Amino acid sequence: MVGLAIHGGAGGDGPWKGPTDLDPQRIACMHNVLSTVGSMLESGIDALEAVTIAVEMMENEPLFNAGIGSVIAADGSVTMDASIMRGSDSATGSVVNVTKIRHPIRAAKIVLENNWPVMLNGSAADDFAIKNGIEEVEQEWLITDLRKAQWQKWKDANSRPGSTDEDDSAMLDHDEGMGTVGAVAIDKNGILAAATSTGGMTGKPDGRIGDTPIIGAGTWADQKVAVSCTGVGEAFIRTCAAHEVATRLRLGESLETACKNMLDMVAPLGGRGGVIAIDSDGNIEIPFQTMLMYRGYWKDGEIMTGIGPDLSSH
Ligand code: ASP
Repeated sequence: MVGLAIHGGAGGDGPWKGPTDLDPQRIACMHNVLSTVGSMLESGIDALEAVTIAVEMMENEPLFNAGIGSVIAADGSVTMDASIMRGSDSATGSVVNVTKIRHPIRAAKIVLENNWPVMLNGSAADDFAIKNGIEEVEQEWLITDLRKAQWQKWKDANSRPGSTDEDDSAMLDHDEGMGTVGAVAIDKNGILAAATSTGGMTGKPDGRIGDTPIIGAGTWADQKVAVSCTGVGEAFIRTCAAHEVATRLRLGESLETACKNMLDMVAPLGGRGGVIAIDSDGNIEIPFQTMLMYRGYWKDGEIMTGIGPDLSSH
């Protein structure tokens, strides 16, 4: 039994208003990721490589907030975070505030394979990644017109970090959604893995680190469960959110209850968001408390994707 779930970020408040003109492209990307990587898992690829490829494919999609198309920080630059974890041996890797590589998640995987240290930061992380074969790119290549426009709106409104979330009335619709990407998988050997990658939040201050690269906050995998989170990172850090799901499972909660209770813990701290999780029995949960979460899963050859409350099959 193999399985895969992905997300492309959560955001917004109130009832879902239906898909935007840009959403078919996001859905097509998710569908492609699920069918490609789902088949690879069936053919025997391991879970760690599966989540890496899934996240790389979404980093390549400019409409998600990771890799090219990452959101823009207060100073006008793109800085990206990513982390990855394998459940069987607690191996993990993370890169923080990288600025000139195409695939932060591949860099995080190389950090994991390198064993020590498990987290690299800033220009040292960029240099390590490039030295290990990750494609180097210019900042200008990472920055898209859509993100420039969102950043300009944020600047004009002189807003706080995170103001591009749809719940800011200055921001018109969920094109402004956060768009962080993540994947969780179980492979043929029953090994679980999780990966998350992001540009963070529009207007974030210099040096800000969200939950995405922090193991136990944005990403977690052990022998029972793999978890990837999305939402306002500070609240996910303050609750060790991804690890909280694992703790709750150990205490006997079902995967569904554990995910729901974790999100209920995060929300009062200002961190409404969503989570994807897969357990060692292949159960998948993809709940969220925002207006929407780009999400989908592949299980037994069946693909489901969704943005608002409903999922559709393909
Ligand atoms: N969690 C990410 C961060 O705080 C943002 C997101 O999920 O959209 O950097």
